[in-house]
Amino acid sequence: MQAWRYVGVQQSLERQEIEQPKPGPGEIVVRVRAAGVCHSDLHVLEGIAPFPTPLTLGHEVAGTIEELGPGVRDLAVGQMVVLYGPNSEGDCRFCRRGEENLCAASQPIGLGIDGGYADFVRCRARSAIVVPAEVRPEQAAVATDAVLTPYHALKSAARLRAGETAVIIGLGGLGMNAIEIAQLLGASVIAMDVVPEKLAHARALGAHETVDGRDAEAVAALAQRQPDLVADFVGLESSVRMAQQIVRPGGRVLLVGLGAVAGPLLTFRYGAQQIATLGSFWGTSQELREVLDLIARGALSPLVTTEPLAFVNDVLERLRHGSVDGRIALTP
Ligand code: NAD
Ligand code: ZN
Repeated sequence: MQAWRYVGVQQSLERQEIEQPKPGPGEIVVRVRAAGVCHSDLHVLEGIAPFPTPLTLGHEVAGTIEELGPGVRDLAVGQMVVLYGPNSEGDCRFCRRGEENLCAASQPIGLGIDGGYADFVRCRARSAIVVPAEVRPEQAAVATDAVLTPYHALKSAARLRAGETAVIIGLGGLGMNAIEIAQLLGASVIAMDVVPEKLAHARALGAHETVDGRDAEAVAALAQRQPDLVADFVGLESSVRMAQQIVRPGGRVLLVGLGAVAGPLLTFRYGAQQIATLGSFWGTSQELREVLDLIARGALSPLVTTEPLAFVNDVLERLRHGSVDGRIALTP
């Protein structure tokens, strides 16, 4: 089968022909129908952390079950499923207290084991969640990260409440969904990006206000609005610093973006104005079920377009330059 693989720190993935995987005990093999392209793939290619090589990337996967391994029950060949990306093991001390996104024996799909930029994927059977009939494969794929991550971040990590004001920085695959999620939680949303088209799209989604991050005056004026939460879906030194500067005294800074930060901490604001900084990673499988249900009911509508798998390197290049609206999912 074809697989598009990370082979080391470089600009692009390499196409390789590899054996179709066979499911071991407790595992399944899924035929990929859609695989979302996340900015984290660019960080992998940049060498943000050591990853095994060669590694097939693609951690937002929807597909049909092709084969069940020995001992797998409650699933059937042909079912349309999404794969819970952290691919947790279910019985470690984190999983047992409901923090399976932090599973100590996690085998993250497309980040630790071979992922969805291929014809087939193998993973733990417990990671498969049946997709509601109303949800299209490409929407289901991006639900697993581009929707799940901001959902967990805003709802569980930052506990965003009705009546609060949230600034969302970075309106890409994750941030654009964060706007809808924050609104669903009853917050008033100020959306920020450096690409004018993204701001127009954010207004169409109902963002109460938009700010061009390159407009220093408009950014400075944001502090007067006393935002309760500033959520950074970029993670650059400039965006983290901005988040710390504009959040209200007693407010929260939420860090989701993984761009290269050297670590500018505005210690005076922390100590004298009680700013809280929160991190957030991916989400739980229960939250993934919730976002699939919200999409099925039309309460969330992630924007996703499709491109053929063979164009993966072009899609990564577009993502690198901020010229993807919403998310792109790759299809066979
Ligand atoms: P994306 O490329 O789709 O979107 C990034 C957006 O940020 C773009 O719209 C871009 O125009 C905008 N941007 C760039 N620089 C900016 C700046 N200085 N100010 C304001 N906006 C700016 O990326 P994505 O797939 O949505 O991922 C966003 C980040 O979240 C990445 O760093 C990714 O690795 C990270 N991520 C984290 C988790 C997690 O669990 N913590 C999960 C998935 C992705
Ligand atoms: Zn991701």
